[in-house]
Amino acid sequence: MTNEELWQSALAELETVVSKANFATWFQNTTIAARQEGAVVLHVPNAFAKEWLEYKYHKFIVKALRALSPEVRSVEYIISSQLPPLLARQKAQRGYLPQEEQMEFREFFVDRETNLNPRYTFETFIVGAFNELAHAAAFAVSKNLGTTYNPLFIYGGVGLGKTHLLQSIGNAVKKANPRLKVFYTSSERFTNELINSMQNNEVNGFKEKYRSYNLLVIDDIQFIAGKVKTQEEFFHIFNALYESGHQIVFSSDKPPQAIPELEERLRSRFAGGMVADISLPEYESRLAILKSKCHGKEAFINDEILEFIASNVQKNIRELEGSLNATIAKSKLLGKILSSNEVKEILAKNIQPKRLITANQIIKAVAQFYDMNEKILYEKTRKKEIVKPRQIAMYLLREDYNGSYPFIGQKFGGRDHTTAIHAFEKVAKEFKKSSQVFEEIKRIRELYEYENV
Ligand code: ADP
Ligand code: MG
Repeated sequence: MTNEELWQSALAELETVVSKANFATWFQNTTIAARQEGAVVLHVPNAFAKEWLEYKYHKFIVKALRALSPEVRSVEYIISSQLPPLLARQKAQRGYLPQEEQMEFREFFVDRETNLNPRYTFETFIVGAFNELAHAAAFAVSKNLGTTYNPLFIYGGVGLGKTHLLQSIGNAVKKANPRLKVFYTSSERFTNELINSMQNNEVNGFKEKYRSYNLLVIDDIQFIAGKVKTQEEFFHIFNALYESGHQIVFSSDKPPQAIPELEERLRSRFAGGMVADISLPEYESRLAILKSKCHGKEAFINDEILEFIASNVQKNIRELEGSLNATIAKSKLLGKILSSNEVKEILAKNIQPKRLITANQIIKAVAQFYDMNEKILYEKTRKKEIVKPRQIAMYLLREDYNGSYPFIGQKFGGRDHTTAIHAFEKVAKEFKKSSQVFEEIKRIRELYEYENV
């Protein structure tokens, strides 16, 4: 199948899963620019389209391509300059690319030996209260492999910079000492590679390869959950690396204690070095990130717009970047600085609105989870089995409802606001330290976020 045929068939498939308007907006003028050993590079018309295909449709695109051509492993997106698609395609096929695109290519192509993307560095990583500890630990590790914190385990929600930080370590180490062997992979790729090596009778080669790294970085280790064979092999590789003083770095969407179906011996290894979290960025950090992302871009953007975006986009950094890019694209199109109403419209379209949760929904979910009557939560009692759920309810009212402390105190039988502060701080601490509390809160949140209590 030629690239053209492959992409046209994939588009036909994609058209059925994407809404008409979105299909017209994001997929027009896209082509396959290159295909090599299962790596597909798509040409997209602008940064805006790139962002959206990458973050919203990537899974669909990979799936559609793989259904047609099973050897497809990865899809990358690069911005074709203003060339009409046919010309761009011909040039790409001839292996010729204009200068600026060659730069894009370099930006996009991961290093074959290390799997690292050179775009992710400490220099472009903004540090704020929300990620300070994780950054400090990562930086320290990059300076002292295998001795400071081993392993380093970084966890946090999606789009908060885990991959960026992990890759920064690898890039910094490689830059300081090109002779060191560095390898970045995800736990899914690790698993696939292991399975392939078993099928091809090459397990020994696989093990040897992994044991040779001075720095092994494994992203999204949570996906190792439930994979018994992978966990076993990984345990031995981990030990071999660790014993020879080689550095291992992990990321995960949850702390080691909260990863389900994980062998105990691995769990304790994961938690045996340094564990650091990345939480949601506060307003100041969001603004700093926006400012840094604007830097160097010719854009019709002013502080007011950045402040507006920073206060309205709170979910994660990926969404923050997406909103900024959408705003820049629109203002370029119109050739002017957008009014705050225009920005508001863009944000409304681009951000999935967080469903507004009421205080009562939170309290209901807590009561349901602990299987108790809601009214008991309001009672003035110090019984342990009631104090804990009540404190958790207070914590959630603060975290997810943004309730003021006096409001929260009032809500629970006219308690003083200091009681609410105390409850919040206590639970916040436990949330970080205790896997039990972490899991419970997660489950409660699921009740009101997905199940509409
Ligand atoms: P995760 O792996 O946690 O899902 P990523 O590392 O992929 O998140 O980050 C999502 C996007 O946000 C990336 O483009 C990344 O460069 C950017 N980003 C995340 N954290 C920061 C930061 N602290 N400073 C600058 N950019 C960041
Ligand atoms: Mg990631």
